[in-house]
Amino acid sequence: MKISDIGEFGFIDAIKADTLYHKENVVVGIGDDGAVYTTTPGWQQVAVIDTMVQNSHFIVGQTATWHDVGFKAVASNLSDIAAMGAVPTHIVLSTALAPQMEVDDVVEMYRGIKDICRAYEVNILGGDTVMSKEGVVITVAAFGEIEAGKALLRSGAQAGDVIAVSHTIGDSAGGLDVLLAGQDGYEALKKAHQYPEPQISLGRLLVQHHCHSLNDISDGLASESNEIAKASGVELVIDRDKVPTSDGLKAWAASSGKDIWKFVFNGGEDYELVFTMAPADFQALQADYPAVTAIGTVRPGPGRVLLRHDGGEQVLPPTGWTHF
Ligand code: ADP
Ligand code: MG
Repeated sequence: MKISDIGEFGFIDAIKADTLYHKENVVVGIGDDGAVYTTTPGWQQVAVIDTMVQNSHFIVGQTATWHDVGFKAVASNLSDIAAMGAVPTHIVLSTALAPQMEVDDVVEMYRGIKDICRAYEVNILGGDTVMSKEGVVITVAAFGEIEAGKALLRSGAQAGDVIAVSHTIGDSAGGLDVLLAGQDGYEALKKAHQYPEPQISLGRLLVQHHCHSLNDISDGLASESNEIAKASGVELVIDRDKVPTSDGLKAWAASSGKDIWKFVFNGGEDYELVFTMAPADFQALQADYPAVTAIGTVRPGPGRVLLRHDGGEQVLPPTGWTHF
């Protein structure tokens, strides 16, 4: 059955069940002109929004399934919430659907949306449905909250800080490359690309451990670290060989003959975190959360990033890795 057969209201009926995963704060959910929710006294509200466009951000059947399109559209927003140190609470979303789309495919996309919302106890409060002549466009806005005054910004990096990242970097770009090549195997890389995990619990730990600056890695480590350097007015010095990479990415770079550092610095959609904090605080964080790695230090200087490798230092532009 096609979307055009059931229409907008039939579609809303098909997806409106099972959308609240943390009901206490919801007064009115899907079904009225607006949703109504309460907020936690003493906490501030965080709002973010992100859009994904078919054949630009994802190619169904090649780099994505409908399930992971839904999952990832929410994941990228929850990652922005994590990058403020906040707890996600709700989403609203706008879907532009092609009339010839199969209802089953849209329901599958919503299954992905609901799976991640359930996992992070985030409510789906409502949305908007429009028709698109060309492919699907999905826009998700997410809301979260954080103790008043505690939001972690890009602008707080201080000379003497450790620069660190979570888990491994470059896997999503590697996974995309594997998918575009139509290559079997490399499941961990593909999963990193299709089902990124927003780092909510680490973001919360970073608040507790007095992190100075924080960004999520949506556009590659080069771009994100430059944002911190610029916003903070300091120089970030990154030791290239300390940046953690997975065995899967190393294997794919070796077998495809590609430069692993392009995946690490220029690739995007890792949704890991890059942050800076005082060295003693970083040690305490590592005791609580071992999957973080120091990759460099912050020093006084113009808002830029230097990359140290093979005994030299070169400016790392926001666009990423280039050879000498
Ligand atoms: P209105 O015409 O008042 O804007 P709609 O008829 O568009 O309302 O939507 C009816 C209800 O369904 C609202 O609660 C809205 O939030 C919800 N809704 C509409 N589209 C979606 C969607 N794509 N996903 C989730 N909820 C939706
Ligand atoms: Mg209305």
